[in-house]
Amino acid sequence: MEQVMEKQLDKLVRLAAFDAKIAGLQEELGKIPAAVEVLRGKYLAVEKALEEAKEELSSMQKERRKAEGDLDGHIEKIRKLNHQTSLVKTNKEYQALLGEIENQKKEQDGYEERILELMEKSTEYEQRISVAEGEVREARALFEREEALLQAEGEKLKKELQEIEGSRGELMAGINPENIQTYSRVKVLRGDSVAEVREEICLGCRVSIPPQKYADVITSDEPQTCSRCQRILYFRKDRQAPAKDGE
Ligand SMILES: [Zn+2]
Repeated sequence: MEQVMEKQLDKLVRLAAFDAKIAGLQEELGKIPAAVEVLRGKYLAVEKALEEAKEELSSMQKERRKAEGDLDGHIEKIRKLNHQTSLVKTNKEYQALLGEIENQKKEQDGYEERILELMEKSTEYEQRISVAEGEVREARALFEREEALLQAEGEKLKKELQEIEGSRGELMAGINPENIQTYSRVKVLRGDSVAEVREEICLGCRVSIPPQKYADVITSDEPQTCSRCQRILYFRKDRQAPAKDGE
């Protein structure tokens, strides 16, 4: 009988170890999706920088096309004004036309400068985009590698979890229902269910165990619980203070 009960306590201690392991694995597993999102965020930031540079280039090209259209308009206007100079009758009209032509030429210079500026800037952006495209490819490859590693890690954890849950199920089948009830009740209350007793102290709540109960923990058929924290108490011979000579 004593043998059987001892085994019950051993099983409860093992059950607690399984449950702690399961909780740890679930926590690890739960971190993976967030870790993937952090990596994805880094990759997307690199991609966004490229998209922004492309948009910038596209608006520069648009502005350049408009400036080129305006320049053509000015050239045409100047051509017409030049033609008119041969048709005017008075010197006053002639001077007025020359003044107008002068103004149009100044504006034309302004457009030409702006077009040159935009061409230089576009070239600079094209180079920048080509570098950024390389960076995006690298960032994507890196993200995919890291994501695959995390997914593989997740699969490993899931497999481990399944195995432990299987072992836990087998173990549970061999534990008396009333002991499982006690175990579950304490687990709900405390988060864990068993506590080692060392040198007459419950390591779950650090309270002294009365001598009689301490003796029962070591020898009784029934699993004993701590009167303060309710945890099921167990004793490990290998962890007690060394026995004195002649004891
Ligand atoms: Zn306790």
